[in-house]
Amino acid sequence: MSGLKLANVKKSFGAVEVIKGVDLEIADKEFVVFVGPSGCGKSTLLRMIAGLEQITSGDLTIGDKRMNEVDPSQRGIAMVFQTYALYPHMTVRENMGFALKFAGAPKAEIEQRVQEAARILELGPLLERRPGQLSGGQRQRVAIGRAIVRHPDVFLFDEPLSNLDAELRVHMRIEIARLHQELNTTIIYVTHDQVEAMTLADKIVVLRDGRIEQVGSPLDLYDNPDNIFVAGFIGSPK
Ligand code: ADP
Ligand code: MG
Repeated sequence: MSGLKLANVKKSFGAVEVIKGVDLEIADKEFVVFVGPSGCGKSTLLRMIAGLEQITSGDLTIGDKRMNEVDPSQRGIAMVFQTYALYPHMTVRENMGFALKFAGAPKAEIEQRVQEAARILELGPLLERRPGQLSGGQRQRVAIGRAIVRHPDVFLFDEPLSNLDAELRVHMRIEIARLHQELNTTIIYVTHDQVEAMTLADKIVVLRDGRIEQVGSPLDLYDNPDNIFVAGFIGSPK
């Protein structure tokens, strides 16, 4: 894989256009953060990239492959949601291996990938537990583990930490930065949290009402916001 590109991507639900022409290039291994007010289209963009939502018009390409109609399972993309429903009756090991098992992967390969994810996420001692016996942060790590075992080229995170308390959010933010280093993959990450955006991003994309308002490095946006709207998201302390 090399690079992900959106060209004049639009999305309508019925007569309502919610993504109004987005052009964006994301380099291989880049950490890109989407910020913007509730309802501006962040989740819809991620869902189109993942293939969970059809693109109304425009093009999505990864490397030189047009992805518009490619099945979600064939895109090399894994998504981690804000509300990550783990299977309560399954152990951590079974939760992490489930998608691979469902896809028919050999048992030994599933076990090897689960072990690898458990090592990266420090979940080794918890593999036999069930979700009810885990803390919120541990559950979120299992949700990330379910994505890691699929060895995706691109990780999509949709406000993954917003249900965690403040202290845990800081801890998980550091974990996610480490994850990006260790996995060496592209990450597209949606957040409401300015500190998360500033500390994690190579590039921040500020969205407003279905359009990109400004794109830049955290420092670019902090020092040179194009307008008050961008400054409100990036520049001003909370
Ligand atoms: P964000 O994630 O930035 O809060 P969303 O991408 O969830 O925003 O939503 C963008 C807009 O699209 C909102 O106005 C939302 O109501 C609308 N929308 C999202 N999904 C659907 C859907 N399945 N059907 C109709 N409207 C939708
Ligand atoms: Mg959303």
